[in-house]
Amino acid sequence: MSNEEKSVGKQLEEKLLIKRSNGLLKVEASETELADAFCEGYMKFLDDAKTEREAVTASIALAEANGFMPYDPNRKYSAGEKVYRNIRGKSLILCVFGRNSLENGVRLLAAHIDSPRLDLKQHPVYESSDLALLKTHYYGGIRKYQWVTIPLALHGVIFKADGSCVTVNIGEDENDPVFTVTDLLPHLAQEQSKRTLADGIKGEELNVLIGSRPFRDDDVSEKIKLNVMKILNEKYGIIEEDFVSAELEVVPAFKAKNVGIDCGLIGAYGQDDRVCAYPALEAILDCDNPEYTAITVLTDKEEIGSVGPTGLNSDYLRHFIESIADGEGVAAYDVIRNSKCLSADVTAAFDPTFSDVLDPRNASYCNYGLAMCKFTGSRGKSGCNDASAEFVAQVRKVFDENNVIWQTTELGRVDLGGGGTVAAYIGNMDIEVVDVGVPVLCMHSPFELTSKLDVYMAYKGFSAFIR
Ligand code: MN
Ligand code: MN
Repeated sequence: MSNEEKSVGKQLEEKLLIKRSNGLLKVEASETELADAFCEGYMKFLDDAKTEREAVTASIALAEANGFMPYDPNRKYSAGEKVYRNIRGKSLILCVFGRNSLENGVRLLAAHIDSPRLDLKQHPVYESSDLALLKTHYYGGIRKYQWVTIPLALHGVIFKADGSCVTVNIGEDENDPVFTVTDLLPHLAQEQSKRTLADGIKGEELNVLIGSRPFRDDDVSEKIKLNVMKILNEKYGIIEEDFVSAELEVVPAFKAKNVGIDCGLIGAYGQDDRVCAYPALEAILDCDNPEYTAITVLTDKEEIGSVGPTGLNSDYLRHFIESIADGEGVAAYDVIRNSKCLSADVTAAFDPTFSDVLDPRNASYCNYGLAMCKFTGSRGKSGCNDASAEFVAQVRKVFDENNVIWQTTELGRVDLGGGGTVAAYIGNMDIEVVDVGVPVLCMHSPFELTSKLDVYMAYKGFSAFIR
């Protein structure tokens, strides 16, 4: 219909009113194919990188294959050079030097690579009623009832008394055994079923089944536990005391899968926040000779408050920026105050089954594209970074000029709950920052869902921002 044929009201409506709609109806079919192809790499990354340490290892391998070298603080770098700094094996900074002086600031993408899970306690192994089990303490915000009766894998590191390290990965190979947390049969769950959902499974009930066969020796009291330790000793050379200096994470054992008959969604563990970390990684791997120095930071410990020396509330990012500023002979505080950042983290996608927890006019939807969140926080925006209108306008312009399908989002109905991201810590550094990320269904569950188009739009949006 030409403009002359449209009514005045229709023309005015198109000119003045916002129309939110499904991104798959806005893009060419060829772009949907690009999204599907991009997500093949993403799904492999999800399978290879279920812990923060594995994400660092997998990211460095991809970075080195794309010409990135370990950062050398004693060297001077020129435009186009690509470096990375490994932060204690759990966080990673990737940097491509730009054509502009660092004094003009850097363009930063920040995503996190830790995910909710069950961590083993320091004395985990015990035997009870002829079964061997592992005591856990969950990490991050989990709904405990979701972690029982599913196949689980054990990932992590064990540092022995002599300081040597063994890497553990059991449950991912086709031929590996898996582990699980037991739950009651419905026939005998009458009492348990009266508990609230939050207490349906309690923290101390998240015990992971690890063995059932005894070591044959009448002189031994805990035969099942001993047999488990014997197998672990043969496989890894460890003794029970070595668990004291171990970081072992229990995660879902299944691989990333296409979800839906049309294969439009990805179902996998750990998409919060690898669904932003992977596009932020790919964006910097593909970043050649940018105008501003570009940095992707993949950080640990977001799920428990960005704490410790590998969390973004520490100074590791500031120290890196200070070091590259020194290399160019400019003041680090000038670099920092002129920098701009996308805090890349997931948001809650609108779920039609639980529609009353979100404001439908301001929620984000699967397939509506990359979601920008001006503010997170809870109860009056408390604890959030509330991005400035000026900066939101700049980012909006970048996305629009680069044909990024994007939407806005908020993390839940006012006064219902809420959450935070690393944006608050980056904002505290005196860096302009806004939250941008992929909408997720079933966030923090063992099987989180995202849309392939949204994942690809994250890559496109992040690339445009740092180019
Ligand atoms: Mn997150
Ligand atoms: Mn989270």
